[in-house]
Amino acid sequence: MADANEKLLAELLKKSGNNVCADCGAKNPEWASYNIGIFVCTRCAGVHRSMGAHISKVKHLKLDRWEDSQVSRIREVGNNKARMRYEERVPSCYRRPNPDTPQVLVEQWIRAKYEREEFCHPERQNHYVSGFMEGFLMKRGKEDSRYHPRKFVLREAEDTLKYHVKENKEPKAVLRISELNVAFAPPKIGNQNSLQLSFMKDGTTRHIYVYHEDPEVITNWYLAIRCAKLHRLQVAYPGANENELLSQLTRDFPREGFLWKTGPRHTDAYKKRWFTLDGRKLMYHDDPMDAHPKGEIFLGHSSEGFAIKTGVPQGARDQGFSFTLETPDRTYLLSAQSDDDRSQWISVIQKVIDKPLTPQDATVAARLVRKRTTSGTMNIFSSTR
Ligand SMILES: [Zn+2]
Repeated sequence: MADANEKLLAELLKKSGNNVCADCGAKNPEWASYNIGIFVCTRCAGVHRSMGAHISKVKHLKLDRWEDSQVSRIREVGNNKARMRYEERVPSCYRRPNPDTPQVLVEQWIRAKYEREEFCHPERQNHYVSGFMEGFLMKRGKEDSRYHPRKFVLREAEDTLKYHVKENKEPKAVLRISELNVAFAPPKIGNQNSLQLSFMKDGTTRHIYVYHEDPEVITNWYLAIRCAKLHRLQVAYPGANENELLSQLTRDFPREGFLWKTGPRHTDAYKKRWFTLDGRKLMYHDDPMDAHPKGEIFLGHSSEGFAIKTGVPQGARDQGFSFTLETPDRTYLLSAQSDDDRSQWISVIQKVIDKPLTPQDATVAARLVRKRTTSGTMNIFSSTR
């Protein structure tokens, strides 16, 4: 039999604002912090507990016993009121988490809210909103796969992110912030405090992998890149809708993993490649952590001859969980690791080719250079290396 306080909590939970996690928006929270006065999901409750009871005291709604005073605190505050206090000044470039957000970003969001109170005291956001940041990050070598400390300098006014091998020497590379994508801790890196930076160079994509021991520092770099991008977009498109601009700051990869693909001749053997879907670019690599893709396929709209289908054309060899990607220039025969893997790839690619192209997409298409195939014919957006 549920006791009176448990029933009261169940009633409070039904109120608008309380029926989702106060921190990530997950449905049906099962925990509450009784000093802050909010309902949270299991994952966020774990982060609250890790901050210590001097910041947040969490209990399970059903499995723990509740005191009257603890329940009244939650009734007094609740998720909506707490949000008004702790999220009063969240900078718009900040990535607010949802249930799919990488763990470190969720942790740092919760610590920024309640431990550092960054959104009550905007001067504490200077690290990432000021348009300048410098410091050392561990960067993976292009050839040797070992990580070395490199000094990075971000300057929003110049639209540059530079890194130096020797601190006082010329930068090794100068990246344009406006052309940079940054993905937080793709699982392949095996380090939660890591970033994958990608940009176009000489008609092909370049990937850079970095990490920092301190999760707050790596999160600040991620946020600094987002903030600089947003500010530059706001200057370039003063009348633009902010949500529209926010959607262009950074892209997670909708899907990555090993697939098998044939060469341009469908009698070629299937070879194992690491595929990454990034916006309208489907890249494939020899190794998941390669600095450059071996080939890149631009995914246009279905009305332009792009299609994705289960199975392979008649007469072609079926490798088990095969599927076919048709582009106006080439038909790709691919094979997944399982039925489920194949369905997921088909579904994410279908979503891309169903979406109309934006002007930014057209720029990406134009910048991917035409590469020559072994047969001597021009083959757009792909390579057979
Ligand atoms: Zn949550």
